[in-house]
Amino acid sequence: MDFKSITVKTYIEGLRAGACSAVEAVETYLANISARDEVLHAYLETYGEEACAAAARVDEEARERNNPKPLLGVPVALKDNMLVAGHRTTAGSKILASYTASYDATVVKKLRDAGAVIMGKTNLDEFAMGSSTENSAFGPTKNPHDISRVPGGSSGGSAVAVAADMALVALGSDTGGSIRQPAAFCGVVGLKPTYGAVSRHGLIAMASSLDQIGPFGKTVEDIEAVFNVIHGGDPLDATSLPAGQVGMSDQLRVTDDKLKNEKVLCIGIPREYFGEGLAPEVTKAMDTVITRFEELGFKTKEISLPHTKYALSVYYLVMPAEVSANLARFDGVRYARIPEAQEAKTLRDIYELQRGYGFGAEAQRRILLGTFVLSAGYYDAYYAKAQKVRTLIARDFDNAFKEVDVILGPTTPTPAFKFGEKTQDPVQMYLSDIFTIPANLAGIPAISIPVEKYNSPVGGESGSPAGGLPIAFQLMAPHFREEDLFALGREYDKAYRK
Ligand code: GLN
Repeated sequence: MDFKSITVKTYIEGLRAGACSAVEAVETYLANISARDEVLHAYLETYGEEACAAAARVDEEARERNNPKPLLGVPVALKDNMLVAGHRTTAGSKILASYTASYDATVVKKLRDAGAVIMGKTNLDEFAMGSSTENSAFGPTKNPHDISRVPGGSSGGSAVAVAADMALVALGSDTGGSIRQPAAFCGVVGLKPTYGAVSRHGLIAMASSLDQIGPFGKTVEDIEAVFNVIHGGDPLDATSLPAGQVGMSDQLRVTDDKLKNEKVLCIGIPREYFGEGLAPEVTKAMDTVITRFEELGFKTKEISLPHTKYALSVYYLVMPAEVSANLARFDGVRYARIPEAQEAKTLRDIYELQRGYGFGAEAQRRILLGTFVLSAGYYDAYYAKAQKVRTLIARDFDNAFKEVDVILGPTTPTPAFKFGEKTQDPVQMYLSDIFTIPANLAGIPAISIPVEKYNSPVGGESGSPAGGLPIAFQLMAPHFREEDLFALGREYDKAYRK
């Protein structure tokens, strides 16, 4: 079996037909990890033995004919901000370097129940704050298409694990673009589901009103297979939606048939996403994508999302406010104390040493910003005002979705940038999420799909990759209309990414 070109579907078919085994798959990915990950550094920890044992159990099960498990034997990598019982979960931070999780996140439980094999934990920007993995306390991950470039972030490790064949699929979390942006930079597909579609229980919180867990994969179908397993309500996450409510009513659902016969979907092209700051190669790629959707028979229509220009400012008020509240719990009392704080004598000493040495510069910057915008006297001027503008941004989408079914734009303004290029200027770094942040503020689902077909990168090369760097487009839909994104994405994959 050629593991480079497999998808979830072809792999599971292979397993059921006896053409390959789960042990073989896991061993292949582990061998790729040994061969490549010293350079790429996608993983913080691999669960070699455990994964092999789980795969062996799958192979037993696979012999039962018609085993219905939807992710039977699928090797999956997890961003290291999701808890796996008995394993370290660091969130890419020194402050949690020795923390061991005591329970499984709901998504982990769901993956296991569906037959998936957990390969290990992937690298990320500290507490998911960043766009390049350069903020990880454990060193950056490299882009397999060109190792002098960043893989994007914060879920850079998960994107690279899939792009460089070190897992078949992966999970990441997306607060302002952390699944879609690295997926775009690494040439894989990434989905940020509707806020509330996937349980956040067992995800280390960054900004609770924005965080969503979602999948990475090589194809839209792979993403869909994982989403179908992880979505649904969870009594342990009050913001998650009860299963059954997720997804549209049957009348609204755009079925494949309907899509084929009527091409009912109208695609909106927001003019605010095509202005200044877009790299020329991205502009060109977007023209290609629009033409391709038209060739496929879809209608396109120019629309406006007039408050887009405020999205970044709103995000950098709301998000730090939530970060400062969420990160308050890492105080050196409730979680393991770092070595620098061991000798502390007073409570104040513990806080200062633990948080001063435990958090990196970006985490500290956001805690300070967030504490400031929430403080008495500034709350109304900053935080409350940002919440109001957030409503206007969400309303832009509501209005647009009266005219069109989905919205298409670039995922990122440029392809992957070089290491160090933006580390000195946080605002430059923040700008790389300019097109992904609005979907988080509005809570709507968005998928990032590479313009061209999946190309397994050779890896290890520095310099300009032969085929150019990956570029991706993004599709956004109304709340709980992931189905539309999949339907459109599948059509695109079939026609142009085979
Ligand atoms: N890059 C954005 C940030 O730094 C988004 C992060 C994320 O989605 N977790 O906040």
